[in-house]
Amino acid sequence: MVNKAELEQKLKKLAGLSPEAQAKAVKTLFTSEELKFLQQQAMHSKQPGKCIFCAIAKGEIRAKIVYDDAHFSAFLDINPANPGHILVIPKQHYEVLPQIPDELLGAYMKLLKILAAAVFEATQAQGVNIIQNNGAVAGQAVPHVHIHIIPRFENDGIKLNWDAKKVTDKQLENIQSRIVAAAQKLAADKAPKKEVDELKKSKTKIEKIKLKKRKP
Ligand code: AMP
Ligand code: ZN
Repeated sequence: MVNKAELEQKLKKLAGLSPEAQAKAVKTLFTSEELKFLQQQAMHSKQPGKCIFCAIAKGEIRAKIVYDDAHFSAFLDINPANPGHILVIPKQHYEVLPQIPDELLGAYMKLLKILAAAVFEATQAQGVNIIQNNGAVAGQAVPHVHIHIIPRFENDGIKLNWDAKKVTDKQLENIQSRIVAAAQKLAADKAPKKEVDELKKSKTKIEKIKLKKRKP
C-alpha cells in the first residue's frame, strides 16, 4: 500500500527542486509502487484539460493518426496488442460510453465499420476484436471513451479469455428480468411513443418465452 502522507512529503520535496534535479529525483525518490500510483492518478484525472486523448484530439500531443474528422479521431495504440491496433475516440471528452449523446452514436458505429474494414485490409488480418472498456475495474486505463480495433492472426498469443462463472437457470432468469426492466425504463425515458409500444410488445414476448420454458 502507498503511504499517502509520505508520498505528499516526497511530492513537496520534489516541487522545491529545479527541473533537472526533479528529473533525476523522480527515479530515486519514489518506489515503483508510488510511481505506479501517481501514474494511475494522472490517468484518472477527471479534468478534461489534462486528458491525454483530448490532447491528441486537439493535436497538442502527437499520435499516429489514421482518421480525423470534426467529431472523431483514430490513431495507432502506442502499446499495440498487434501491429495495426488502433483506438477510435470521440473528440469531445466523455469518460464512459453511456455518456455519449445518442446523436453521435450512429456516426461512431459507421466509422468503426469503416475502420475495422481498413484494419482488415491494411494488416491482412484474419479477424478483428472490437473492444471498449468502461471504468478502471473493467480495465479502462484512459478515462476518455476509446474503442480498440485489434487485428487478429492465428496463434498471435493474445488472450481475451475468462473463466466462466457457474450460474443456475434461476440466477440467469433473475438477472435477465432485472436487465430487461432497467433497459425498458431507460429506453422508455427517451424513446418516442411508437418505440415504447414496441418495447412493451417485446416485454410480452419475453414473458411468453419464460412461461413456455417453464412448461414441462
Ligand atoms: P484501455 O485500457 O482500454 O483504457 O486502453 C488504453 C490504451 O491507450 C492502451 O492500449 C494504451 O496503450 C493506449 N495509449 C495510452 N496513451 C496513448 C497515447 N499517447 N497514444 C496512443 N495510445 C495510447
Ligand atoms: Zn479527454
